[in-house]
Amino acid sequence: MIIDFHVHPFVQQEENLCMYKESMDFSDGFFKQDIEAAGIDRICGSVIRMLGKERVTDFEPFRQMNREAIMLAKQWEGFYTPGIHVSPDFVKESCEEMESMKAEGVKLVGELVPYAHGWSDYSCKEFSEILDTAGQLELVVNFHSMDPDQMEKMVAAHPNVTFVAAHPGQKGDFLSHLERMRKYRNLSLDLSGTGLFRYGMLKYGVEQLGAERFLFGTDYPICNPGMYVQAVKHEHIPEEAKELIFHGNAERILGL
Ligand SMILES: [Zn+2]
Repeated sequence: MIIDFHVHPFVQQEENLCMYKESMDFSDGFFKQDIEAAGIDRICGSVIRMLGKERVTDFEPFRQMNREAIMLAKQWEGFYTPGIHVSPDFVKESCEEMESMKAEGVKLVGELVPYAHGWSDYSCKEFSEILDTAGQLELVVNFHSMDPDQMEKMVAAHPNVTFVAAHPGQKGDFLSHLERMRKYRNLSLDLSGTGLFRYGMLKYGVEQLGAERFLFGTDYPICNPGMYVQAVKHEHIPEEAKELIFHGNAERILGL
């Protein structure tokens, strides 16, 4: 069983994040078939439209992405666990959105990608208010890795929120993730994006902090899912560690 904690499904072409989509054909159910062909059984994550770096003036685009995620989750029942967007530029709307989405069964916020949605500070007071509500609603928060100090402040200030940072990054970034994870038990890391191709990275992390703190993820369709599955399989860690990373931890954190 493999759960990919970090995927970006799409409804519209502009939300297809594959960097070489002109040479790929995502029609006729290719998205799901392609993921399954890589050996992945279930996916989690948000629909992302790139709104740009400028401050977004209307919550509607966020609402639309969230609605599309819910629609896909209904279409792919048992396959896709949707993640929703919030923004510190819309505290009230974000909290209301989390409340209504929670009522629809949503368990996950993110992956949040501030750089694409006109905001940049994880430690601002507006985002802190949103996280208070996320904690009350017991929503898991998956966030794109950015400034280390901001990430630390955010995680430290919300011990009741389950956080999953995205992307191990290069060695320096990864060691800094491990340091924060050692300090804060409510922080885990998903293996999507940059990092896993550095051989031995996952083994080192598991030895330092235990396999319970790492979740399998790809960032499909930006990244090749087959590469990530093989990378975890080929790390020299115990089978039980692989089981936790491939599905046990996501099941525990999301209550799947
Ligand atoms: Zn992503």
